[in-house]
Amino acid sequence: MIHKNYIKFLGTAGARFVVMMQLRRSGGIWLRLDDTNVLIDPGPGSLVRCLGSKPLLNPRDLEGVILTHRHLDHANDVNIIIEAMTNGGFDRKGVVVAPSDALEDDPVILRYLRGYVDKIEILRLQQTYTIGHISFSAATAHEHGVETYGLNLFGGGHHISYITDTKYFPGLESYYTGDILIINVVRFDSGNTKIQHLSLDEAEKIIATNQPKLAILTHFGMTMIKAKPWELASTLSNRLGVRVIAASDGLEIDLDLL
Ligand SMILES: [Zn+2]
Ligand SMILES: [Zn+2]
Repeated sequence: MIHKNYIKFLGTAGARFVVMMQLRRSGGIWLRLDDTNVLIDPGPGSLVRCLGSKPLLNPRDLEGVILTHRHLDHANDVNIIIEAMTNGGFDRKGVVVAPSDALEDDPVILRYLRGYVDKIEILRLQQTYTIGHISFSAATAHEHGVETYGLNLFGGGHHISYITDTKYFPGLESYYTGDILIINVVRFDSGNTKIQHLSLDEAEKIIATNQPKLAILTHFGMTMIKAKPWELASTLSNRLGVRVIAASDGLEIDLDLL
């Protein structure tokens, strides 16, 4: 059965070591809303994960690719995904949206591929983007060393908020009011403030404040994986009275069943 609206996690790895060792996969998030397919943050192995999915996810069915930032674990496969989406450049189509620093100096999106797509847009604040039946905007600028934006995506009657990599800052949660809240939780402990990533207790505060219909933890670093994310998610669910799950590689969430 083909689902109408779903989120599929082609990877749940966060942070260098988990990605380098492929302790979890790092293919990004495939989102299908109202018959439009987009791929968010195609990290290393994204193409392989698409083609290895059951049922297969064909990159040629994509109408767009979105990068929240230029780090390798989010952008490594963007070029091959553009090539696959456009049938090697023979079917010019699709939209690519990425922050300016992914496109300008030392670009992660190769220039020779840019003519393969219909449109390249710069992800920035105070602009609404449309890809097929999905509309989205950059929620707020994150504190993450490179230009980074979380997303609010709309389509098929759903509002999905995606808090990508960031250091916590006061008010962060106020930008992410979706029914479905995806949070990159790299760190189990909040001790080391030099690392610009959210920790589990920060994610908990965000979920407690926002009370989404469903919160999904993903993008796990080593300390999170060691602490068994599925157990942590179930503890949070019980404590907060909000449905919280930990994403696993290949997890598909049928949004119409929520
Ligand atoms: Zn990351
Ligand atoms: Zn990052």
